[in-house]
Amino acid sequence: MKADLLLTDIGQLVTLQGLAEAGPQRGPLDDLPTIADAAVAMADGLIVACGPRAEVEAQVEARLTRSAGGRVVLPGFVDPHTHLPWAGSREGEFAKRLAGMSYAEIAQAGGGIRATMRATRAASLDALLAAARPRLRRMLSHGTTTAEAKSGYGLELEAERRQLEAIAQLDREQPIDLVATNLAAHEIPDEYRQDREAWITKLTDELLPGLKPLAEFCDVFCEDHVFTVEESRRILGRARELGYKLKLHADELVPTGGAELAVELGAVSADHLAKTGPAGIAALAASDTVAVLLPGTSFYLGAKEHAPARAMLEAGVAIALATDANPGSCLTESMPMILTLACVNLRMTPAEAIVAATANAAWAIDRRDRGVLAPGKLADLVVWDAPSWRYLPTHFGVSLVDTVVKRGAVVYDRNQ
Ligand SMILES: [Zn+2]
Repeated sequence: MKADLLLTDIGQLVTLQGLAEAGPQRGPLDDLPTIADAAVAMADGLIVACGPRAEVEAQVEARLTRSAGGRVVLPGFVDPHTHLPWAGSREGEFAKRLAGMSYAEIAQAGGGIRATMRATRAASLDALLAAARPRLRRMLSHGTTTAEAKSGYGLELEAERRQLEAIAQLDREQPIDLVATNLAAHEIPDEYRQDREAWITKLTDELLPGLKPLAEFCDVFCEDHVFTVEESRRILGRARELGYKLKLHADELVPTGGAELAVELGAVSADHLAKTGPAGIAALAASDTVAVLLPGTSFYLGAKEHAPARAMLEAGVAIALATDANPGSCLTESMPMILTLACVNLRMTPAEAIVAATANAAWAIDRRDRGVLAPGKLADLVVWDAPSWRYLPTHFGVSLVDTVVKRGAVVYDRNQ
């Protein structure tokens, strides 16, 4: 068998094969199967063989061979919730929050999402691209090989379109695969403050149909002071008619019944869920909707409560983890940092966190070709400078990534 690249001398290979195959992994998990002294062979962007080194090497004739130096190899991270294309910055709000203002109070005073909206409306396509490129480079250097990316800072047709066009162009020009989400229903723009009904009609009649060709998913910010459950149902119902797959920002700051709504609508994911109660957990557990938890956000906002991950795992909810990368409530591109926070604050085990950031995260964006290392899957993997997979969430605030391979090509090398 011919291979373009053979990655060999892998000290510990974690394929996640057998997990999350017919659906996302559910339930508590304490351990991950590993293969010592392993190799992965890749051709045409896909894995053609992976397993014990001697077996793989006997099967393939590789054009290029590379040593992992005895390091740990895992599937590349899939980050299933980011707000990637934004303009401007909000460091002033950070100080206000430290001085005691809440995120909701800052938003009501004209900050928050609407502050980024003003900067994003004023930004050209080139400016959006220039702002997003270094974020993507940081994501790659922290082991992310696929990311979801939302609009939602334009809040008018042309500015939302520019954000989605930026996502499409960034997807083409750099290694990380991007999955686009229309989040025009992110806020009520100032000009509709007095007539929210008119804004919802604008969304369902103009922004959702007009932007459909540029976005696979549609998402709504269902939250106190933003969109109610009933309004979110109308917007997402329309999105579904138009052929969008659905996501929902639900139960982040107060419990509204958002998780139940996501399940009712057959959403691919329900995201945040910091305040989801027993009924929402039961609904998620009985559904195919993946719970995307964002422990970076509750950390960054100084929340006392975090998403009830343990109750969700015990109930059988499928959990994914994401950065929520955005300028106001969670400014990070680092999935490894999210793993640490998921373990420390959400009490997830390292095994649960790693599955949630890879195999289950792929389910959260409806991609079945990645998140697991197996023949036929995308050759998206990361070589970690760590003694074992269990070590990853224990060492935080730095990147332990040695090498990133995307679709069978080395796209990041720490030493170059
Ligand atoms: Zn978000």
